Amino acid sequence: MAQSPRRRCGITRWAVWSQPSRVIAVLVAVELCAVALVGSAWATLRPSFGALLLAVLLAAAGIVHTEVATGVERARRRVGEKSYTDLSTIWTFAAALLLPAALATATIVVIYTYLWFRVWKPARFPLFRHTFTTTTVLLAAVAAQEVVTGTGGTAAWSDGVFGIASLGAATLVYAAVNSLLIALAVAVSTPDATPSHLFGALDEITVELATLCLGAMLALTLTVSWWFVLFAFVPVLVLQRAVMYRELAAAATTDGKTGLLTATAWNAKASEAIDRARREQSTLAMLVLDLDHFKRVNDTHGHIAGDRVLAAVADAVRAEVRGDDLVGRFGGEEFVVLLPGLPTPRAAVELHAVAERIRVRVTTLAVPVETPDGPLTISDLSISVGGSVVSSAPGTTVEQAMTVADRELYRAKDSGRNAVRIAQHHDIPAPRTEQQPRIVDQQPDS
Ligand code: GH3
Ligand code: MG
Ligand code: MG
Repeated sequence: MAQSPRRRCGITRWAVWSQPSRVIAVLVAVELCAVALVGSAWATLRPSFGALLLAVLLAAAGIVHTEVATGVERARRRVGEKSYTDLSTIWTFAAALLLPAALATATIVVIYTYLWFRVWKPARFPLFRHTFTTTTVLLAAVAAQEVVTGTGGTAAWSDGVFGIASLGAATLVYAAVNSLLIALAVAVSTPDATPSHLFGALDEITVELATLCLGAMLALTLTVSWWFVLFAFVPVLVLQRAVMYRELAAAATTDGKTGLLTATAWNAKASEAIDRARREQSTLAMLVLDLDHFKRVNDTHGHIAGDRVLAAVADAVRAEVRGDDLVGRFGGEEFVVLLPGLPTPRAAVELHAVAERIRVRVTTLAVPVETPDGPLTISDLSISVGGSVVSSAPGTTVEQAMTVADRELYRAKDSGRNAVRIAQHHDIPAPRTEQQPRIVDQQPDS
């Protein structure tokens, strides 16, 4: 069941080496580009005393903000690892607008180094990803500062429409450079990434935009008096809390070990899907999946290794269904999938094909795990699958459909495991009628 790969140590253990070579190539290319640009900005730097002081002020504000928000940020990173939103943008963008590129980049490096030690490192975020994020911010700042200098400097901001256009252009350039570079890295590491995966969900983009606007307003007010830096703290902390509530709400519906829907969230969404199918008179199908002899994995390799296997199986299930299918973790090593809109006459056949794909994929899994005896790979896994095609008759409930799929799962287990069994049932009655579900077994050719 397990093979022991060669032990790795020192530099070879860096998480970045687990990335595909095309990802490493993009990271290195972008970082070299940043080194060249930042280096040339530093070579020509003749800073004024005022600019130096402002750099110190913004770096200090970024550090104070990090300290005040550390608890909030740590919780936020733990629950929202995929988030691209970084509220320290308010300070880094203000620095990009007001300071020569070299000083802006120094301010950013100070803030991001501090963030690394106080927020990201304790959350075990990979260093190479933090370094890349910092690099994208540095390049965005250099580009935004180019726009400011090219449009007449900060003095131009009070020049009516031209001022608004100049500040707007710098904001757009900063946002575009930052998000395009991150999207590039995501695209090379996940070739089938969706637009929201590449650029963040709409509400993440909105928060990013709000932070940029705060940064622009901070820069404007700082041209009047540096004391206005104090005014920035309240809105940025309120924004931080708003982001945390959104991510906690998402975390409440997401199973921590697998990233799938929790049983409660899945049930709620499945009920909505059944109601929708009834209105549209379309077909729904359901799968219940249970890992075979999973207890042995825990007994042999420990529960942490078992958790890694659960996560890998969850990924396998998700990879074999469509984006709008609902995948949940129902209990320990049991998963559920609701598949709306399968073509009606052949729904059971289609469902069988999906279940077979999942079953085969699980048998091919090789899950690398760390055990007390060193790293090893767990393979020879298998899963049993039961399925039901759900009618959209009035009164059909998630429980009724699951009962049928669950019964099929037990038939799959009884047949020797690593198997698929699908039932098709029609006209599940409303609970009020107290009729028994009429069940028609159908075993499509596999
Ligand atoms: P079968 O083929 O009959 O399904 O056998 P099985 O061993 O998979 O089933 P059983 O129900 O006997 O055991 C399920 C195991 O799943 C028992 C429990 O230790 C394990 N389990 C449940 N939840 C978790 C979890 O969150 N993490 C880990 N690592 N194991 C879990
Ligand atoms: Mg099991
Ligand atoms: Mg079980």
